[in-house]
Amino acid sequence: MTQLMPQVGDHGGGVRSIRVPIPDNPLGFTLVYVVDTDGGPVLVDTGWDDPESWDTLAEGLRACGTSATEVHGVVITHHHPDHHGLSGKVREVSGAWIAMHAADAAIVRRTRETRPERWFSYMTAKLEAAGAPESHVAPLRTARDRKLPGFSPAVPDREIVPGELLGLAGRRLRAIWTPGHTPGHVCLHLEESHPAQLPGNGRLFSGDHLLPEITPHIGLYEDPDDATVTDPLGDYLDSLERVGRLTPAEVLPAHQHVFTDAASRVRELLAHHEERLTDLLTLLVEPLTPWQLAERMEWNRPWDQIPYGSRTIAVSEAEAHLRRLVKLGRAEAVAGSEPVTYVAV
Ligand SMILES: [Zn+2]
Ligand SMILES: [Zn+2]
Repeated sequence: MTQLMPQVGDHGGGVRSIRVPIPDNPLGFTLVYVVDTDGGPVLVDTGWDDPESWDTLAEGLRACGTSATEVHGVVITHHHPDHHGLSGKVREVSGAWIAMHAADAAIVRRTRETRPERWFSYMTAKLEAAGAPESHVAPLRTARDRKLPGFSPAVPDREIVPGELLGLAGRRLRAIWTPGHTPGHVCLHLEESHPAQLPGNGRLFSGDHLLPEITPHIGLYEDPDDATVTDPLGDYLDSLERVGRLTPAEVLPAHQHVFTDAASRVRELLAHHEERLTDLLTLLVEPLTPWQLAERMEWNRPWDQIPYGSRTIAVSEAEAHLRRLVKLGRAEAVAGSEPVTYVAV
């Protein structure tokens, strides 16, 4: 890879990346990929909606010999604001289309339509059911008029259909549906030989699904209007196996750095989750609510140092693990418990 400017890398074969900063976030930046097509540059993700991030994206596009106004299309791996944040602005200046999987497009529409008070009352009920203490739930009851960040994401104009080519002139880019991190997360498989002839099948834009050194957050698919019992962790593990079987020559993730040997990274992640599920079973020798489980799980710091918002995310992750264990028949809800507790079987 050659550097065109500090934020821009050239991956060969008409693919560049721009490191678009994410303000106040330990992840640091989103890698926005610029894919040359015969119809003009197409972006994979756009980055966080912030003036500095926008300037970096615009400047990066100029370093690539094009500009934000020239963008032909935007392909979104998933709806999170560090990926989809600037899509609206790119469309505004260029007239580009925005493509997204239907399940994440539904979240975008719902986010735009849901009144904050509906969202806060849903979260209040959910956290109470998970056994959260009153000290954690109380702030939500008084926060109903608060504005939520990323509350007006851009509605996409095209649907990404799993298994199909995206129809980019002169390129073969196929959508691989990889639910788990979000219900409509997609990876994009560039079915072209590797520009440096690395062995394997093309290159994979992996979004947040497959990252070289971190594991993506897997929580519940929070949807106030849907009572379906989903299994996001099960979806994620299936999706991991699916991308492992593609054996891409190189993976181009949305954070950190590009890497090779996707299959061994997939094996590492599968082993990590299996180990984590096994550890949880040892905690579930006594009945625990999702909250109590989250308190006892291993995080990147002790529970009492985890900030408020991250605790909510941690509980969602604990619940996703419980769903998986219940589905596998390795844990069950204790009949009559309120809030519901779970125990290993
Ligand atoms: Zn994400
Ligand atoms: Zn991300």
